[in-house]
Amino acid sequence: MRRVLVTGGGSGIGRAVARDFADAGDHVTIAGRRLDALQETDGGRGMECRTADVADETSVKALFDTPFDVVVANAGTGRAARVADTSLEMWNATLAVTLTGVFLTFREALSGMKSGGRLIAISSVAGLAGEANVAAYSAAKHGVMGLVKSLALEVAKSGITCNAVCPGWVDTPMAETAVANTMKRFGVSREEAEARVFGDNPAGRIVKPEEVAAAVRYLASAEAAMVNGHGLVISGGEA
Ligand code: NAD
Repeated sequence: MRRVLVTGGGSGIGRAVARDFADAGDHVTIAGRRLDALQETDGGRGMECRTADVADETSVKALFDTPFDVVVANAGTGRAARVADTSLEMWNATLAVTLTGVFLTFREALSGMKSGGRLIAISSVAGLAGEANVAAYSAAKHGVMGLVKSLALEVAKSGITCNAVCPGWVDTPMAETAVANTMKRFGVSREEAEARVFGDNPAGRIVKPEEVAAAVRYLASAEAAMVNGHGLVISGGEA
């Protein structure tokens, strides 16, 4: 039975990824800031629920009292703002969780991880191309890609891989917040806000969290042993 850690496991993509591993019989630990949300993810599946803040070094270290076989650095955050309106506090807060959180999670994961180990970051298409109004988030996700590609080279000979999944808009609380903020900011209907946020997806629909989980499952599989330093785009053709 593999030991799997998923950060930000209390909602959205993290929840879908955690349930996917648990339903396949893996031993899953989910980490996040709210215990009640983690317990809801578990829903009786027997996951280990651990409160943690990925931006806090001591908190992340405490998660790794025993080593994991698969570590999914999923926790991330971002708010829309033009660069001119981005405060230093907002910039630092975004990078602390979305980039430094992945660094801390992966660094701690390395100690004790055996051959066959899998490090998987949930990045974004915003980590592959620039996007107006989300510079801090996009910069953090580009940073995640640099971390993933560099770490992949460091672990390559040890039988460990380090990859990222790069989704387009996914149907989660993060997308819901973007829609709600667009409705408020521009005074438009939900339909119009959805069209503005993810209406230009080439496939004409938003990505399902389970579709991201399936990509993570592949990268975690034995079959993906030679996939390393890769960003697997799950976006219906966007970016
Ligand atoms: P979400 O907001 O539901 O999930 C983010 C999770 O991270 C939440 O459970 C949140 O509590 C947790 N988190 C935030 N800060 C944390 C911290 N300091 N410590 C621990 N946990 C923390 O949104 P989601 O869409 O499921 O996002 C998951 C990941 O997917 C994020 O990295 C996000 O950037 C990425 N992503 C999302 C989309 C999308 O459209 N939803 C697209 C591309 C990438």
